[in-house]
Amino acid sequence: MIQQAHKSNEIAAQAFSLIKECGLRPSPQRIAVAAYVLCYRTHPTADEIFTGLKEQYPSLSRTTVYNTLHSLVSSKGIMEVNVEPGIARFDGYTEPHAHFRCQMCNMIYDIDLIEMSFPEEFDISGVQVNLTGCCPQCRVNPKP
Ligand SMILES: [Zn+2]
Ligand SMILES: [Zn+2]
Repeated sequence: MIQQAHKSNEIAAQAFSLIKECGLRPSPQRIAVAAYVLCYRTHPTADEIFTGLKEQYPSLSRTTVYNTLHSLVSSKGIMEVNVEPGIARFDGYTEPHAHFRCQMCNMIYDIDLIEMSFPEEFDISGVQVNLTGCCPQCRVNPKP
């Protein structure tokens, strides 16, 4: 329990500095949006973030969620990932990594890219690698 409390303080502090770094005023609502993305490693959509926070922050608007997410993406505090066509998801893990979407349960997993090499003549500013298949969980418990 103590460890959990410590972790949520850490996330709140990190969320506060991400909001400041992207030039926004660190209002409780904006900090909550950033903290949600850092805390939930499920790659939530803007709608999922809004739904997840609106009970605790009744004054939160969809526009605030969208604008905060886009400012955070522009300042590279978080990443936008497009694992499924037309659906923007948000990721607080900003090291280059691949995404694996399970075709059975639809969960999105982070996969570390080990020793990827890129041709030096390209100036690469972003990486999106999308994998699909069956996750370890679903391989053990296949649904009928
Ligand atoms: Zn699965
Ligand atoms: Zn990810």
